[in-house]
Amino acid sequence: MEKWIEELKGFVPESRVLTSVADRHSYSFDASFGEHLPDVVVQVKEKQEVSDVLKLANRCKIPVHPRGSGTCLSGGPLPVHGGIVLDMSQWPASIDLRPRDLTVTVAPSVLTANINKAAEEHGLMYAPDPSSAHVATIGGNLAENSGGPRGLKYGVTKDHVLGLEVVTPEGEIIQTGGQTIKNVTGIDLTKLIVGSEGTLAVIVGATLKLMPKPPAVQTIMVAFDEVRKAGEAISQTLTSGILPAKMEFMDQACITAVENFQPAGLPVDAAAVIIIELDGHPETLGVERGLIEEIMQDMGAEEILIPKSEEEAAKLWHARKQVSPAIAKIKPTKVSEDATVPRSKIPDFMDRLQLLKEKYDLEIVAFGHAGDGNLHPNILCDKRDVEEMKRVEMAVEEMFQAALDLGGTLSGEHGIGTMKAPFMELELGEVGLDMMKRIKDSWDPNGILNPGKVFPEKGQKLVLHHE
Ligand SMILES: Cc1cc2nc3c(=O)[nH]c(=O)nc-3n(C[C@H](O)[C@H](O)[C@H](O)COP(=O)(O)OP(=O)(O)OC[C@H]3O[C@@H](n4cnc5c(N)ncnc54)[C@H](O)[C@@H]3O)c2cc1C
Repeated sequence: MEKWIEELKGFVPESRVLTSVADRHSYSFDASFGEHLPDVVVQVKEKQEVSDVLKLANRCKIPVHPRGSGTCLSGGPLPVHGGIVLDMSQWPASIDLRPRDLTVTVAPSVLTANINKAAEEHGLMYAPDPSSAHVATIGGNLAENSGGPRGLKYGVTKDHVLGLEVVTPEGEIIQTGGQTIKNVTGIDLTKLIVGSEGTLAVIVGATLKLMPKPPAVQTIMVAFDEVRKAGEAISQTLTSGILPAKMEFMDQACITAVENFQPAGLPVDAAAVIIIELDGHPETLGVERGLIEEIMQDMGAEEILIPKSEEEAAKLWHARKQVSPAIAKIKPTKVSEDATVPRSKIPDFMDRLQLLKEKYDLEIVAFGHAGDGNLHPNILCDKRDVEEMKRVEMAVEEMFQAALDLGGTLSGEHGIGTMKAPFMELELGEVGLDMMKRIKDSWDPNGILNPGKVFPEKGQKLVLHHE
């Protein structure tokens, strides 16, 4: 046993310092690709423990990889350089709600859906709603700046954070931001840390903004016989003066996969469907619904479905949530991307995906948050098929290039992690990337916090195949 691992047991109880191979294997993967064994897993439960672990790691130059629930789709918590996995999921899950201030202070381990549940008891809501909210931690959401369908109207995690409590890589405990809605005191370290993917600091607490829960919602489903028409209808709606809370897209392959998996009555002949949720006062919703129906008819919609009951609406949203498990039945491996383009470019991006599908002879399906241009093209493949995986690697690279050519970005919400690090310079340029790296180096002079993430290592390439 390494001496530094023995030293860890001086400030974290031995039962929470895991060294067996079985335990370490359980922390060697996330929801993306690759397996990396850590030397040790430390399950921390309070900020002083985090501080002590980081001070030791900084002194001995041991890598530390923070981890929430491990649902990351870009390799963020993977211990690519061994060392310590800092498991935040066992931390007592406290939610301290202040309804009169419309704020809540939470522990890093709290599951995001539970924040919204607590807020709803007071007629409030926590707006960010990633699909993984029932299993992912708020610490992971903050580190990834996660978003969900409601991002269209309400923004993503960073738009709802007022302050953080963090431990720096050198083990110092600091507060950023505060509890007020307005706060312009100095450089905004809160926004710097949100989305930094565990590379700048370990988040040990957060104060979040709550909002009044809208009194009513209205769901509308619209089917189109051409993907381009659906894309144009999205742009038309968003420039009409109406801002839906959600505007989700599914292509024909996704519709068919869901109907084969758990039939929900989706139109299998449609080239694409858009599922919209309006929220607000019931009278306003009536007017907006009528306007959307008019727009969709003008844009050549094949079918407009207004659910007759809450149950029917819930069934449609459930169908949207089933896309991921449903398409996973098509082939054993799912390479899930989240390249994002300006909204008006969705039809062009869909055309580029079609070309890639034909060029590389791959099964590519698309669904996602079309209202904010954040599509999820998924390549369905088989990781045991080396030749196919090489084609997938080439297709992914061209997909990123297509998104950038259209004025978009590598990632709308899943983060860079290890998977997209090789492509960072494509989007940011050499100097842009170097400016980010300089920030990282000044926070973490010994490079111990989550190394191997976000910043490409020399000669790093996307590798999904194993010879
Ligand atoms: C089925 C499925 C659906 C998903 N849907 C969405 C979606 O709709 N929107 C979306 O944005 N994402 C989605 N994701 C991705 C994922 O759930 C999010 O990125 C989530 O925020 C990760 O949270 P986690 O607790 O699992 O963190 P992990 O996966 O454990 O870690 C994620 C990153 O956060 C860092 N980290 C974790 N905790 C801390 C902390 N306390 N301090 C500092 N750094 C920390 C890690 O080092 C890592 O870089 C989905 C994933 C799956 C599997």
